[in-house]
Amino acid sequence: MFVGRFVIEKYYINIKVDELKPELQNIIDEINSKGKSNVNLNRLPFIVKAYDIYKNEMNVFENPFKSIEEYGEDKEPYFEDNIKKSIEPFMNEVFSGEEIKKITNLEAIEGTSIVLGIPIKKDGQIIGGVFLLKPVSDYISALNGFNMVFLFMSILILVIILILLYFSIKPLIIPLKDMAYSAKKMAQGDYSVRIQEKGYGEVEELANSFNILAINLEEASKLAEGLEKTRREYVANISHELRTPIASLRAMSETLLDGMINDEQEKQRYYQIMLTESIRLQRLINDMLELSKLQSGNAYLEKSTVDISKLINLVYQKFAGIADDLGIELKLKNDIKNLPLTYTNAERIEQVLIILLDNAFKFTQEGGVVTISSNIDNEKVIISVEDTGEGIKKEDIPYIFERFYKVDKSRTTQGTGLGLAIAKQIIEALDEKIWVESTIGKGTKFSFTIGIKK
Ligand code: ATP
Ligand code: MG
Repeated sequence: MFVGRFVIEKYYINIKVDELKPELQNIIDEINSKGKSNVNLNRLPFIVKAYDIYKNEMNVFENPFKSIEEYGEDKEPYFEDNIKKSIEPFMNEVFSGEEIKKITNLEAIEGTSIVLGIPIKKDGQIIGGVFLLKPVSDYISALNGFNMVFLFMSILILVIILILLYFSIKPLIIPLKDMAYSAKKMAQGDYSVRIQEKGYGEVEELANSFNILAINLEEASKLAEGLEKTRREYVANISHELRTPIASLRAMSETLLDGMINDEQEKQRYYQIMLTESIRLQRLINDMLELSKLQSGNAYLEKSTVDISKLINLVYQKFAGIADDLGIELKLKNDIKNLPLTYTNAERIEQVLIILLDNAFKFTQEGGVVTISSNIDNEKVIISVEDTGEGIKKEDIPYIFERFYKVDKSRTTQGTGLGLAIAKQIIEALDEKIWVESTIGKGTKFSFTIGIKK
């Protein structure tokens, strides 16, 4: 700003000096041609003096300068003496034929002044010189005005630049500010934040990457939340399932220990319940171990050639007695007898069949029918266990293969809800499929595939 002002001042004064020079040249031309100038010195906005080579004032003006007072009241410091004293140092230079142009501090006049000098020639001889004297302070007021304008313009330009800068940087800054805010939110665990993918080039790219990161983090956190929830539910379920039989075992053994029961029959009844509970506990723990082994992916199920017709027949024999006791008819469809050899794990397939038959009998009333049937489709044997039991509601079907899921939660003695979860794990480990079709009130049909031996 100040550098600007200084430069402009210098430039401005130089222009003024160049404007003064032709005026002086006119005077000189007149003197040189006519011997006198008829310019009115009193009207000029600067001082003009002519000196001969002996430094005496020359009489070359028709309208000479009357008095310093008339020249102007603010020019008071420029008395004749002062003027001569100020010009004197430059006289010799002019008398030697040089034209001079100086912007300098004079001895006798305060501040900076402009001095111009041009020699007067007669017949090729230098007989003197005409000098122009002008204090720069005359221009300062004009310059002050100019400076105000300059200052105002500078501020205006600065404001315009700032506004332009603001609008060009805004699209850069806003996404960055957004990102900083969102990053803070994400650090606090809120991954739902997204930022507008606006801005230029890299900023937009950054915003895009940021959003991808947020999406991934959100997914990961949802997954982790889901896993954590299942884990918690699992632990809660296990604790619940274990607590009931253990509490009853403890209560009964305490009662027996206290000697409160004397009746031998009552004692037997207690022992019987304790045995049942222990068996239940043992089964539950075995099931859970089984499931966790299957789920860990470590359970490698070895496959071999299996005569599936024979295997189903064996299972049928085992359940025939139970079916009789329950008053339920267990049917074996004829086509079972001539099934092709399969390539699978006999023990695990038997386990799945037992789980399905166990359910079929459990959820079917006396007088119902349970049927084992088969089908061949696309290199697979499909085995189905169908019952005429209570059926499963549509809304429960998606969950029955989950651990601990039971449609009727109050039927605690019936089971723990691990059967189908185990069956599904086994079937998946064998790269096979299991599914269910059910109509409430009519019955349920579970089916699974077994690979045919190639
Ligand atoms: P567990 O098998 O561990 O003793 P569970 O039989 O209750 O207990 P699952 O075999 O996993 O557990 O079955 C889950 C639930 O699915 C059952 O509680 C029952 O509500 C429903 N379900 C399974 N099979 C049938 C069926 N054949 N008919 C009606 N509902 C069934
Ligand atoms: Mg079951």
